[in-house]
Amino acid sequence: MREKVDIVQGDITKVAVDAIVNAANSSLLGGGGVDGAIHRATGPELLAECRALGGCPTGAAKITKGYRLPARHVIHTVGPVWHGGGSGEAEQLRSCYRNCFRLAHENGLTGIAFPAISTGVYGYPKGPACRIALEEAKAALASYPELGKIIFVAFSAEDAETYRETMQEVFL
Ligand code: ADP
Repeated sequence: MREKVDIVQGDITKVAVDAIVNAANSSLLGGGGVDGAIHRATGPELLAECRALGGCPTGAAKITKGYRLPARHVIHTVGPVWHGGGSGEAEQLRSCYRNCFRLAHENGLTGIAFPAISTGVYGYPKGPACRIALEEAKAALASYPELGKIIFVAFSAEDAETYRETMQEVFL
């Protein structure tokens, strides 16, 4: 199973895969960080499609086309804002990953790339966020045999290292 998980460092908008995941905000109308980069890369068509979606609650996910991206689709999910960990953040972050994998499955997608949801402006600590991402990847690989590739895109070398270390523990 482990061979189906890749950890790469770079810009998720450059990744050619069935779907890339956007760490969006609940308006789905664009923002900073990875969200801004995705909207800049797709061109205005993505914003037009997102307007019709009516937003997205924390922990949920919605799918659109990828337009000018090398990825065919974008799965938009809204991670929790970190408030210290006692406000259900972990369960909400898990729910983001689960809903993204479910949407990929329902749409017949076999490859998906994730940024480190919630770990930027939303302030989720990177180690624990990384662990949730990898645990949910392991669970998704067990549930969806058609899933051929899961790519975790780390924006920095340090984040890539966090994924690699956590990977050793989660995929024993
Ligand atoms: P959130 O609001 O969910 O915290 P951010 O976009 O602020 O979302 O950050 C989420 C993660 O995405 C952070 O780890 C950040 O370093 C990373 N990131 C920002 N831009 C990109 C990009 N172009 N490709 C991949 N990861 C990115």
